[in-house]
Amino acid sequence: MAIPSALVATAAVTRPIFEGMGPVSKAVFYAVAAVSTGVFAWGAWHRARKYQMGRAAGRGPVVRAALSHRLHAMAKGTSVSRGHRATGLAHFFILWGFLVAFMATVILTFDTDVVRGVSRLITGHEDSFFHGTFFIAFTFVVDTMGFAFLVALVYMAVRRGLQRPWRLRYDRADAPAGGYSRRRLVEGDWVFLSLLLAILVTAYVLTGLRILGQGMPWFSVFSPFGRAVAEAFSGAGLRPSQAVTVHGVVWWAHAGLALAFVAYIPYSKAMHMLVDAVNVLATDRTATLCLPGPPSGTGHPGYREIPDFTWKELLDLDACTKCGRCHEVCPARTGGAPLSPRDLVLDLRQWVDTSTGGRTMLDRERRPAPGGPLAGAGVRIAGDVIDADALWSCTTCMHCVDICPAGIEHVPTIVQMRRSLVDDGAMGPTLQQALQNLAAQGNSFGRSARTRARWARDLGFAVPDARKQAVKYLWFVGDYASFDERLQDGSRALAAVLHAAGVDFGLLYEAERNAGNDVRRVGEEGLFEMLAEQNIEALRQAQFEEIFTTDPHSLNALRHEYPALGATYQVHHYTELLADLLDSGAIAVRPLGYRVTYHDPCYLARYNNVIDAPRRVLKALGCELVEMPRHGVDSFCCGAGGGRIWMDDSLLTERPSHNRVAEALRLDVAHFVVACPKDMTMFSDAVKTARVEDRLTVRDITMLVQEAMLP
Ligand code: SF4
Ligand code: SF4
Repeated sequence: MAIPSALVATAAVTRPIFEGMGPVSKAVFYAVAAVSTGVFAWGAWHRARKYQMGRAAGRGPVVRAALSHRLHAMAKGTSVSRGHRATGLAHFFILWGFLVAFMATVILTFDTDVVRGVSRLITGHEDSFFHGTFFIAFTFVVDTMGFAFLVALVYMAVRRGLQRPWRLRYDRADAPAGGYSRRRLVEGDWVFLSLLLAILVTAYVLTGLRILGQGMPWFSVFSPFGRAVAEAFSGAGLRPSQAVTVHGVVWWAHAGLALAFVAYIPYSKAMHMLVDAVNVLATDRTATLCLPGPPSGTGHPGYREIPDFTWKELLDLDACTKCGRCHEVCPARTGGAPLSPRDLVLDLRQWVDTSTGGRTMLDRERRPAPGGPLAGAGVRIAGDVIDADALWSCTTCMHCVDICPAGIEHVPTIVQMRRSLVDDGAMGPTLQQALQNLAAQGNSFGRSARTRARWARDLGFAVPDARKQAVKYLWFVGDYASFDERLQDGSRALAAVLHAAGVDFGLLYEAERNAGNDVRRVGEEGLFEMLAEQNIEALRQAQFEEIFTTDPHSLNALRHEYPALGATYQVHHYTELLADLLDSGAIAVRPLGYRVTYHDPCYLARYNNVIDAPRRVLKALGCELVEMPRHGVDSFCCGAGGGRIWMDDSLLTERPSHNRVAEALRLDVAHFVVACPKDMTMFSDAVKTARVEDRLTVRDITMLVQEAMLP
């Protein structure tokens, strides 16, 4: 049977790789390619040596478990697109356009240097798979993805050059009086962007010249954008013979740029393309929920030198793309504190690079510190490289970790540096006092431990002591709901609601201690362990099936920190319990009909994904919920977490709680509903200070349930 001529024609189509080049030109190309690869390898090796200085991070199982999930997220570009759709889409095409271009180069190299070379040696004539249907499919994918890549880069350039979003301006949060310049960071970004743009533009010029030089062959329709360039050249009067001549010049320009880019990668922002892939795979957000312990075997409790960092933390520093998302959402930065998670990463990066003799092009800040003068012996990471006030400003809200598209974990590193400050006694007097109270009485108020359950005296019914009587639920009340007179009404209301609903619950009474969540985040590891051990011992003496707690911070410690100490419980937040009781009809209510907004506590929503339960409660109460723009996992911190509630906040220009109340006021709601005792304190104060008590009432969700309950 005769083979149709169209098929024969298709099988024959291809394009030459080194068109018009003699052996000398080819040798020059391979020599330059070898130099470029060598420069790349030297830089990459230097970086790898830096990561090797770090301690083990125990991320092997995380990488294995996350591989498919993370690759899926990266493929969809979801991590980058969160809240920034256009940028996410552009990044998607840049990522995949780059990967397609890289794979295309690998395929061509394999065909040219392996398949053709080996076949020539064995059979005496060259074989190649780079023709026919494969060639057409290859051409089409490379041409279309390359164009999408180019458009995405142009979008990024316009965004940086014309739109100039403030979070890409790299202003420091602390703006030191001594002055600094981040111009080189901006220049580094532009070199990166310009190199990629130049490579792509020369690629399309090259394709257009080749197609024109070949006389516009029929199969060039499968390079729609390359052919469009060819038609433009032809329309401009360029003849095929001239195209062939110019093609040689542009070929060298394109090859030179591509090889220069390869050599430039490990010394520049371009390194994030490699580092981020590993960093995102190795990221473990549970390391923020249950913090890693201090570095063992170093003789000091916090971070003092580079080998104290884990390899993952050192990788984190190089993974930062300076996108500014963490900078944008950070409540400390928003409030005018001298902390930005982005600055923290960049400062540590520069310090580590300077101390280890790292070579970077442009991607550096110019200022006395943290840099050359600070590198070397005697420099304290916590205090010199990173200012102590910056470290104490963190509320450990985890928003930076959650939003970072590069998988950077800021909070555990901040806490390691705080441990060092605590070890040096470098803390404010109010924090010192709170820690002393916690050590002496097990609560930050400094009240006698015996008075912890005094709020439960006049309830009209007795709450069982779970150490003496078996109960279904152990209520872990927490310090604020126990000792703060302004919050005890809320505790009494919850006790009354649960009692009326027939819930079998009890307390630890004077045996309960602060759960230690914020003590650990302050950096006082020894005190945390003491409090946790006391609680675990008290819980061991009690008889219960499950725990519920009023305090999201206690919830996090009981749920995530205590299992590492060998104590695992089933722990709920009280809103989860209330939602179930309302859904089952155990609590009968009348509709309130209020227009409300609800504040998601960081330790409830972002840390523990309890987002739905409080909303179910509000729905059952017949409230109209108007969401604030920042809600759910994107909630904005009240400013109390990470021990901030025990610290002086006179450094701030705007307290986070005030910022939040302003957000709620724009919604025209009557009630600001909270589900955390600390939130009740923070927002009640904010509403009072802002003198808007007539416009907004802060309500604990329990109070609304009690108000709606039918007799
Ligand atoms: S945890 Fe919150 S306060 Fe701390 S650096 Fe991150 S975003 Fe800022
Ligand atoms: S730490 Fe993450 S979120 Fe922050 S600037 Fe760097 S890459 Fe962006």
